[in-house]
Amino acid sequence: LHPLPKGPLDLFTSKVISWQDIKTLLGEYFRRNNASSEDESVADFITRRFSKDILDNIVELLITGIYAGDPKRLSVRSIFPKLRDLEDQYGSIIKGFLKSKKQKSTESFDPEVMAINKRKLVSFKGGMGVLVDALYNDCHSFMECNAEVQSIRFQDNNRASISYEYDGSVKTIEADHIIFTTPAYVTSNWLKSLSSELSDLLNGIEYAHIHVACLAYHKKVHGYRGFGFLSPRKEKLNILGCIWNEMIFPPFAPSGSVNLTAMYGGACHPEMKGWTEDQLISQTLEDLETTMGISDPPDIVKTFFYDKGIPQYNIGHFDRINRIMEIVKKNPHVSLLGNYINGVGINDCVRNSYQFIEDLEI
Ligand SMILES: Cc1cc2nc3c(=O)[nH]c(=O)nc-3n(C[C@H](O)[C@H](O)[C@H](O)COP(=O)(O)OP(=O)(O)OC[C@H]3O[C@@H](n4cnc5c(N)ncnc54)[C@H](O)[C@@H]3O)c2cc1C
Repeated sequence: LHPLPKGPLDLFTSKVISWQDIKTLLGEYFRRNNASSEDESVADFITRRFSKDILDNIVELLITGIYAGDPKRLSVRSIFPKLRDLEDQYGSIIKGFLKSKKQKSTESFDPEVMAINKRKLVSFKGGMGVLVDALYNDCHSFMECNAEVQSIRFQDNNRASISYEYDGSVKTIEADHIIFTTPAYVTSNWLKSLSSELSDLLNGIEYAHIHVACLAYHKKVHGYRGFGFLSPRKEKLNILGCIWNEMIFPPFAPSGSVNLTAMYGGACHPEMKGWTEDQLISQTLEDLETTMGISDPPDIVKTFFYDKGIPQYNIGHFDRINRIMEIVKKNPHVSLLGNYINGVGINDCVRNSYQFIEDLEI
């Protein structure tokens, strides 16, 4: 494992970035803007502005960590809109970054917005479930949890009737506004009767599968410090990456113990779909031994399989979402929210939800 550079000076001693990469990064300042107005893949964009090595050694890791995606298919316009804007506006990303940094330091800012925009690693003492429990505690008087919506019928009077299964029986309610926060492929089914184009656009959003193995050890089985590791594809390991939870969130594990989360699958590994639990566990143990030298058996193991884990913002996603929103606007009793719209991170989802509620006019 090699540490990522923490600041500009570390670049010169880092094993992740070569001298050639540094030269390429600096050279981008002088490279002419040769972008077309069309959307392009992250791979094409980074190779065009920087190099294939920067793509393989740095950018691919970021994309793996957030989207488990394929840089050859992900859209730069949706994944890195700011980089694309800097190129369009200043002719170079580095030039634009330096200029916009100067401007930003003189701008006033809203501390609340800044806090949510800062991509800090955040959790709660009892884990992320605390967020869901808090929402439930606040809303349970007017909310039914673990209810599966079975059908939605839009009526001529701009109302909808929703049938759902709850506690073993089917109930029906009427609503004059529905906010769909379900995954795109689920929402697609329910909006077919409203617009087949809308339904097809939603259903066309690809989701990457993810397998997760959580391992706990009652003793310290490694001496690394940091957040974890991501594995570039060129290393030809199966593991996408591993999070060292006890380091990021010490209350998650008793002192002296180790708590790891290993991830597999993603858009570049369709061959891993359908893995069994045994396969996932044995591959995880093998990869943790290869990368971190852990040979002790874990004391606790839990596995999770997400067949449709993370929406992929592939080329054309920006136009797809714009068209989806155009159609939705014509149906004022329907709104859409969710991680396929404006960022897949939980902080993105929270920020989008706040914004949505502020803008909502019912
Ligand atoms: C393995 C993994 C690790 C991740 N790690 C991180 C991370 O470290 N940090 C981060 O910021 N983000 C992470 N993400 C991304 C983030 O968790 C998600 O993008 C985000 O939680 C999505 O929120 P959402 O509300 O859009 O969708 P979801 O949380 O998927 O909510 C959709 C809801 O719709 C419900 N639903 C579906 N069908 C029906 C039905 N018929 N009737 C009623 N309800 C239905 C589902 O039960 C679900 O509760 C991770 C994602 C995965 C898969």
